[in-house]
Amino acid sequence: VEQYRNQKVLVLGLAKSGVNAARLLHKLGAFVTVNDKKDFDNNPDAQELLSEGIKVITGGHPLSLLDEDFKVVVKNPGIPYSNPIVSGAIKKHIPVITEVELASQILEGELIGVTGTNGKTTTTTLITMMLNQRADAGKAYVAGNIGVPASAVAQKAQKRDTMVTELSSFMLCGIDQLHPHIAVITNIYSTHLDWHGNRANYVKAKMRITMNQTADDYFVINWDSQEWRELSQQSKAQVVPFSRQGNSKAGAYEEAGKLYFKDEYIMDAKDIKIPGDHNVENALAAIVVAKLQGVSTKGIVQVLKTFSGVRHRTQYVETYEGRQFYNDSKATNLVSTEMALKGFDQPVVLLAGGLDRGNTFEKMAPALKDHVKTLIVFGETAQKVADAGKLAGIQDIEFTENCETAVPIAWKRSDPGDIIILSPACASWDQYPNFEVRGDRYIKAIEKLTGKAEEN
Ligand code: ADP
Repeated sequence: VEQYRNQKVLVLGLAKSGVNAARLLHKLGAFVTVNDKKDFDNNPDAQELLSEGIKVITGGHPLSLLDEDFKVVVKNPGIPYSNPIVSGAIKKHIPVITEVELASQILEGELIGVTGTNGKTTTTTLITMMLNQRADAGKAYVAGNIGVPASAVAQKAQKRDTMVTELSSFMLCGIDQLHPHIAVITNIYSTHLDWHGNRANYVKAKMRITMNQTADDYFVINWDSQEWRELSQQSKAQVVPFSRQGNSKAGAYEEAGKLYFKDEYIMDAKDIKIPGDHNVENALAAIVVAKLQGVSTKGIVQVLKTFSGVRHRTQYVETYEGRQFYNDSKATNLVSTEMALKGFDQPVVLLAGGLDRGNTFEKMAPALKDHVKTLIVFGETAQKVADAGKLAGIQDIEFTENCETAVPIAWKRSDPGDIIILSPACASWDQYPNFEVRGDRYIKAIEKLTGKAEEN
């Protein structure tokens, strides 16, 4: 890629992806400036980049930066387009891209993209594990929103390798040429509307995953909603559906508890190790991709029977005196929590609450009613979640400080045979830096309760 040699480029945001993008552009011969609104002093990454010869400006986004003649702006997906430095760049007709676009420009191997409201990380992981079951093929790597910067993976992936890239809608807003050979949409629910403004914009952002695809490519989409089926008509790629509700047999589907790909029986749904109907959907999406890429049925089944889930996603923690603890800290919206609850037949003690995005939780009431015996709430949305619990007729609702203090309370209110699960239905940023830290602290609290913390 010669297009960046001796060109000035601006990287906005010093998060992991920004640091990697800056390094890559520097390596490609560009004159790189990195800019973050956070302060310099607390930023070890900034010091490192400086020592590597990259210009770093922190503590604000000075508009005077735009006086320089930048060839491109690489923006952190979380920085909104309304930010003056971003809108200023756009006004000056400087292309604004995200780091995944940059990664796709240098990638020599094949690109598979996965997006959707829920199930991205699980599906991305399943696909990667399945592709790696092939004996005579290159290696598959996870990348993107899953926490592994795509530009780092793109640099090591060879021609015969595959980069399985989890794409958030924020990332997709900043792509230009990015062109997945296989694009997957797991589902599109109504969350994240705060950022995108309205549902139409959110759907449009997701559909960008297929905008550069051609008839040689594949577009894999959940067939269990009329809206999603109709969306598939916008794709120029070959559409391959997956369906848990018998809406199509043209791709992967579930019928009477059995999973198929076209005419071929794959396995029984109950033998998938990760729990819940939502994971059957994720498995079906992954089966389509695996089949298109020549993975054997044996390889597919091997992965689905053994993979025990991604950390923080309905992750089994431990059983203590008959209570099974689960960590579903990644459940940052209603649908995720509903799905997690539906995965259990036992009575559930639910720990929920967190950042207030302005929505209510009434929609959750039916799922609460069917599964939850005790509800423990915390965070900014504590009252709202409790209200949904009341609506569901739950008698036992308790307020507490956070998900850690909730653990001993949950313990006291539970009986042998119960499920105790952190599945907050909210983002973590009101009390924790991210959902991983929230989940880890929850696990620590469990270990303290069960005595493991003292032993270690
Ligand atoms: P994402 O990467 O899109 O956030 P994950 O695979 O990390 O998705 O799953 C996050 C949470 O969302 C899970 O813990 C589960 O509760 C829920 N979830 C996972 N897959 C689905 C699905 N296909 N449909 C609805 N909810 C799902």
